Amino acid sequence: MSDDTGGWGRNRQGESAATRHVRYDERQLHKAATGGGNSDNDSDSNSNSNSDSDSDSDSDSNSDSRSDTQQPVATCSSDAQREPTRVTRVTGKGGPLVSRIAVVGSINMDLVATVEALPRQGETVTGTSFRQMPGGKGANQAVAAAKMGATVVMVGRIGADAFGDTLLTNLAANSVETGQVLRDGRHPTGVALITVDRFGHNTIVVCPGANAACSPDDIDSAEDAIAKVDAVIAQLEVPVATVSRTFSLARAHGKLTVLNPAPVADPASVKALFQHMDIIIPNELEAEALTGVPVAHEAGGFGAATVADGSEAAPAAAALEAARQLRALGAKRVVITLGERGAVFVGPEGEIVTPAFRVQAVDTTAAGDAFVAAFTVAWIEGMPPRECMRWACAAGAIAATRPGAQPSLPARHEVEALLSAPAYLT
Ligand code: ADP
Repeated sequence: MSDDTGGWGRNRQGESAATRHVRYDERQLHKAATGGGNSDNDSDSNSNSNSDSDSDSDSDSNSDSRSDTQQPVATCSSDAQREPTRVTRVTGKGGPLVSRIAVVGSINMDLVATVEALPRQGETVTGTSFRQMPGGKGANQAVAAAKMGATVVMVGRIGADAFGDTLLTNLAANSVETGQVLRDGRHPTGVALITVDRFGHNTIVVCPGANAACSPDDIDSAEDAIAKVDAVIAQLEVPVATVSRTFSLARAHGKLTVLNPAPVADPASVKALFQHMDIIIPNELEAEALTGVPVAHEAGGFGAATVADGSEAAPAAAALEAARQLRALGAKRVVITLGERGAVFVGPEGEIVTPAFRVQAVDTTAAGDAFVAAFTVAWIEGMPPRECMRWACAAGAIAATRPGAQPSLPARHEVEALLSAPAYLT
C-alpha cells in the first residue's frame, strides 16, 4: 500500500482498414455455442490459489456490458447511461490486440535521499544515498498501461527545465506518446522531495509546479487526441477542474472514464466528478475519505493465505459497503484496492472480492498505479469484471515485489505468467 503522494514510502502522513473490432461478449457467445464453457470456469481454472469469492449479488457476473442497461444505475446525467464501447483492435494482420488510452495527470521527478535518521527542525544531516527517478501518478499509470500493451498518450505539463527534458525522454522511452505534454515556461517541473530513514520512515514534500498549472484549456487543446482513444484515466495530482473538463470531454466523445482519486484532498470536489465517471478506483484510505466507511480498519479481511489454504475468502464487508456508497453517488463501477488484502469490485455485473496474489512484497510503491492501468487495459479489451480484477491484482502484486515506482511496473507477459502460474512469485 502506498501513500497519496505518488506512492513513496510507508507513511500515510498511471486504424487502418484492416482494423477488426472484437467484443468479448461475442467471443464468449461463440465459445458457449461451441461448448467452450463460460468465462468464469475458464478463469477459475487458471488460478487455483487466487480464486475469487463473489457476494450473493454476483449471479450475473458473466454478463457483458450490454446487460448494464437492464440494471438500475444511480447516475446524475443522461450521458452517464451510455456504455462506452469495449473494443480491441488489431494493429496489423495477426498482430497484437491494442487498446488506446489517454492518461491525464501528473509528471514528477522523485528526488530520493536516504539518511540514517530524519533531520529535525533546523538540523542538517548527511545522506547515505541519492537517486532521482521519474514519478507522478499520471506518468506512472501511462507507463504502466504502455507496458501492458496499450497505445498511450500522456496529457500533462512539465517545466522548460532539465527535469522536464529527462521526464519527456523517459516517457518516450517507455513508448508513451508525448505530443500532448506541454512545456511550461513559467512553472518548474513537479518534484517530490523524499527522505527515507533506515527504518523506511519518510518525509515527503511534493512541489506540483507545472502539474498545478495543467488547465481545462490544456484538455481542450488535447481534444483530438482524446477523441482517438478508448479510455481516459485521470488522478487528482492535477487540478480537479482539469479532471472535470477531461471527463466531460471524454464522455462527449463516448470514451470510458476512469478516475483514480489520489490524493483525496477535498472529498466534496471529487464527488462532483461522479456524474462523468464510469469507473472509480480508490485505495482503501481514499475510499474511506470519500465515504466515511472504515475500509482501512476493517477487522478480519481476506488474506491470500486463507485462499491458498483452499478455504472460502471472507467477505470484505466494509470495502463492499464503501463501494456501494460510491456507486450510489453516480460511479457506474467501483473498484477499491486493499493492498495485500486484494481488491473489491461493485458494478452492474455484481460484486466481486478478489484476494491478493501471495508474493514477497519489497516495496508497494506504484502497486496502485499498476493496478489502475492493468484494470483499464483489461476492461477495454472486453474481459469480464472478474478477469479484469485478476489481471489488475496480478499487476499490482508484481509491482510490489520490486523497488521503486516505474521500474517496478510489470510487462504484459509477466502478468500473463503470474496468472497462468500463480505460485511462481512466492
Ligand atoms: P495504492 O498503492 O494505491 O495504495 P494498493 O496498495 O491497494 O494501492 O495496491 C494495489 C493493488 O496491488 C492491490 O489491490 C493488490 O492487488 C496489489 N498489492 C498491493 N500490495 C500487495 C502485496 N503486499 N501483496 C500482493 N499484492 C499487493
